[in-house]
Formats: sequence, structure tokens, C-alpha cells
Amino acid sequence: MTGQMIARRALLRQMSLAGVGAGLVLASRPVLASESGQWSYQGAAGPRNWSHLSPEFAACAGQRQSPIDLAPAGPAQEGQLSLHWPGFAADIVHNGHTVQVTPRSADGSHYLLLGGARFDFRQAHFHHPSEHALADRRWPLEMHAVHQAADGRLAVVGIMFRPGRVNDTLATILAALPPSGATRPAGRAIDLTHCLPLSAASYRYEGSLTTPPCSEIVSWIVLRDPVEAGIGQIGIFAREFPMNARPLQPDTGRRIGVDLF
Ligand SMILES: [Zn+2]
Repeated sequence: MTGQMIARRALLRQMSLAGVGAGLVLASRPVLASESGQWSYQGAAGPRNWSHLSPEFAACAGQRQSPIDLAPAGPAQEGQLSLHWPGFAADIVHNGHTVQVTPRSADGSHYLLLGGARFDFRQAHFHHPSEHALADRRWPLEMHAVHQAADGRLAVVGIMFRPGRVNDTLATILAALPPSGATRPAGRAIDLTHCLPLSAASYRYEGSLTTPPCSEIVSWIVLRDPVEAGIGQIGIFAREFPMNARPLQPDTGRRIGVDLF
């Protein structure tokens, strides 16, 4: 075990969700993210060339890519999203591209329901600056909480951070931040509910992984309101990952719903 477990608490938040777009393009072999070191955020192996780096990355030149600017949002259709995020013992992984929080055991207690479909929590990771934007404005940090259905489809909750008070969950993650390529156990349970804003208002659209292989299998739920992180905490991410955000992709006429709940 990784130290004392704090009291587990389940969260059930009801949110409406926007209408789902056209049919999802499923990867033949569901992939959360390429562990390959052959891509980067700059230079010849940077985002403009991802689709040429490997046949497996062809989707990076697709028509339903992420991230996008969320400004053209319209009203959402009715639907429900509920998050079930009790605290968990975690490993903190530095994979060279980001820092990732992975549960040490998959006991089935971490999941979300999206329109009645279940997606199990797999991992959460961070981008500096944020990948999604609103009217070209980016935040200093964006967390992606990745959930996967039995058929491989993904539902990712994006949460923005702005400078403010120190965030307890980030503190636990940063205290265990390992060097690149290494993994360390978190010293305390990770409670992702500490990364939720008060409002459940969210943007919804159908898109992709924002890293190779860029699979177009993601239902995005980007929470509208940022939460606070200490400026020193953001600075640690900025030093470790000066730029790990993919440039904005064309929205290609996709429907972006905003639910103001
Ligand atoms: Zn991400």
C-alpha cells in the first residue's frame, strides 16, 4: 500500500450532456496513447508531422481531431453524466510526455455514466498549457481524466486550472513526481473530486486522442469552469513540461454543445 487511505467518498453528479454526433470511428485495437518516444511537441516529430511518423498515426490527419476551440458552442441536448470518483491508491508515472496518475488496482469502483453507457476510469494526466481553448484563450493547465468502455470507446473529462489556491490533489501528485521514464507510488490516496469545479457546466463534442495515435474514439466532456491551482504548482508542471499541448484542430463543423446546468 502507499500509505494511509483516506476515507473513500463517492461522488454522484448529475449533468446534462450534449447530443452525440455521428457514429464513432472505432480503432481496430483500442489504444489509450502511444507509449512510443518517436513523437514530440516540437520539430520534425512535432504535431504537424504526427500523421506521417507511423502508419498507426494516420488518424492524426483525420476530420474529427482534438483539441478544438470551444467558442462556437450551442445549447446541449438533454442527457445525463454522472461521475463516480472515490479516492484511490495511485502510481504517478512520468512517461516523458506527461505525468499520469494510474490506479494501483482496478476494482471497478471508478467510472462514469454517459447517456447510460459505462466507462471505467483508466488514468488522469496533465497538459501545460491547456489543450482546449475558449475563444482562443487557454488556461495554464488542463487535466484529462480518461475513461474507457468495454468496446474501447473513450470518454474524457477535461478540467482547466487557473492560478489561485493550492490544490490538494495536485500537491499529492507533485510530491511523488518521478523523473522521466519512472514511476512512483503516491504517498496519499488520490481524490479527483478535489479537481472538480462547483458548477457542472460542460462542453461536449466528439473528437480524438490529442496524442498519437489520435484515435477518433473520444466523447469529450470539458468542464466550463476552471478550478484553482497554486502558481507554484503550475510552475512545477511548466518546468517539467514547457509545452505538451497539441495545437488547436479544425472543428470541421462538428456540433459542440454547452450545458449550463
Ligand atoms: Zn490528454
